[in-house]
Amino acid sequence: MAKRIRLGTVLGFPIQIDASWLIVFLWMTWSLGSSYYPQTYPEWSTAELWVMAALTSALFFVSVLLHELGHSVVSRHQGVPVKDITLYIFGGVAQISEEPRSAKNEVFMALAGPAVSLTLGVVLVIVWLATQGVAEPVSAMAMYVGLSNLSLGMFNLIPGFPLDGGRVLRAILWAARDDLMWATRWASRVGQVVSYLFILAGIGLAMSGAWGSGLSLVLVGMFLQTAAKSSYAQLTVRTMLADHIVAEAMSDVCSTVPPQVTLDMLVEHYIVQGGQRCFAVSGPDGPVGLLTVHHVRDVPRDKWRDTHARDVMMPLEDAESVSPETDLEEAMRHMASDGVNQLPVLRDGKLVGMLTREDLVTFIRERMRREREGKVV
Ligand SMILES: [Zn+2]
Repeated sequence: MAKRIRLGTVLGFPIQIDASWLIVFLWMTWSLGSSYYPQTYPEWSTAELWVMAALTSALFFVSVLLHELGHSVVSRHQGVPVKDITLYIFGGVAQISEEPRSAKNEVFMALAGPAVSLTLGVVLVIVWLATQGVAEPVSAMAMYVGLSNLSLGMFNLIPGFPLDGGRVLRAILWAARDDLMWATRWASRVGQVVSYLFILAGIGLAMSGAWGSGLSLVLVGMFLQTAAKSSYAQLTVRTMLADHIVAEAMSDVCSTVPPQVTLDMLVEHYIVQGGQRCFAVSGPDGPVGLLTVHHVRDVPRDKWRDTHARDVMMPLEDAESVSPETDLEEAMRHMASDGVNQLPVLRDGKLVGMLTREDLVTFIRERMRREREGKVV
């Protein structure tokens, strides 16, 4: 699990920072305080240098946040909810749980972030020029943060998915052909080409002696490449699951065991011999709990003889569950956010099946296979 720190809520959006972001904050403060500011303003005292460095990094962080808020406000305005905003090592991510409703929506949503950055950049450049020679610290900070915002805005407009510019490209392709999958595939391909260009440029820079900038470019390129691939994969999965319900993918109820069976019996007769991994624990009117291999593993081996299924099972009423009519996509999100590998499927409080991660994978594979064979499903 990634380490996240909750900062609070802005305009109704929960804001959190990823631990990786702190590294960037410290690195930026350090490089500003130890090299950039001392070189530019040799007359500043050590205390002044470090206060300015930390303030500048903090302002940069506020800028990234404002960029993400730009996306989030427009997204919410268009009826696509935003779960939260997280700041990572390479900037921010607004967690938008759904695909945009239309190409027009996506264009507005994608452009909102760079629009905020570019506007901020222009305003700060004006502040920089206006305060030059009048209020040196304000001017210095406005220049640094202003130029950073301009480059943040421009960088995000590069047309490689999933950068904002790539989203605009995808929306244009989407509008042209009314096929979101096809549009995403091509926008991600352009994104991958862009990422290779970054890596090549980084290698070039590094070979010419600029190690630091070269390495940063290579890292950004690698990050973009992963992002382009994974956002396409994500959409493929979403598309495969869309308009299908749990009943189509769930497996039968796992075999039922009596509540008083001991764990060593269970391991010997069901797990080792039967190869089963999941059990329903029976009660007077049907199953009352679930037991998986994981529950058994949590109990020390020497306790297996005296531990009964009912002692370690997860009672059905406590389990996160879905109904047979739940959308598969929703069930998958459910599993991901709760970090579980299976969900009991309940109808009127009765266990009718299980949905596991393997069931989802099998379902997606089967659909892909049929699609390749040209069958309509
Ligand atoms: Zn953006």
